[in-house]
Amino acid sequence: MQITIALTKGRILKETLPLLAAAGLEPLEDITQSRKLIFPTNQDNVRLLILRGSDVPTYVQHGAADLGVAGKDNLLEHDTSNIYEPLDLNIARCRLMTAGIKGAPLPKGRIKVATKFVQSAKRYYAAQGRQADIIKLYGAMELAPLMDLADEIVDIVDTGNTLKANGLEAREHIADISSRLIVNKASMKMKYGPINSLIERLAQAVRAREAV
Ligand code: AMP
Repeated sequence: MQITIALTKGRILKETLPLLAAAGLEPLEDITQSRKLIFPTNQDNVRLLILRGSDVPTYVQHGAADLGVAGKDNLLEHDTSNIYEPLDLNIARCRLMTAGIKGAPLPKGRIKVATKFVQSAKRYYAAQGRQADIIKLYGAMELAPLMDLADEIVDIVDTGNTLKANGLEAREHIADISSRLIVNKASMKMKYGPINSLIERLAQAVRAREAV
């Protein structure tokens, strides 16, 4: 039974590969040195796809991949009705926060918010009872308040250095983010044996890593 796992490229991949290796799964070549997108592994029936983070939930939602490793920030933006999230891998941890120019008060009434995380931002400001016009950006959110495109941004904060370097400050905490193992619901049913065994081995690898 073929199992396809969609991985997020970049920094999450670097933290995912050691976990997969600890669970007994290794690509047959160095993914970070290749431009290929599909990689066979030491287990004949398991292959890896290397995708942009925001595409991983889409592949798993539609069953084009059975499993995935996706940031919670991306999961919060997607339709995950066909997805189980059985395991927090506890890697690539950071926070989704609001941020703005240091010391600058928010204007009263409607505000402009620039973000890549449109759904999370909409839910957050609605829950606060705050009227917000959300402006979708694909990167460099920090620039938006400086150029007066927005009063505030919703972005991922790790050390806070990026905000600081641009004269911004983190304000409200919206969500804790980490990478999650996700599974297509139909795959879970149809390929229960191999998928469940992989989940258990990964859960063990996560526990072992945290015990260090
Ligand atoms: P920092 O300067 O350490 O607060 O990092 C902030 C920037 O790094 C953010 O704007 C994100 O683009 C990126 N970043 C940090 N941590 C993560 C993560 N776990 N997942 C995705 N992007 C991240």
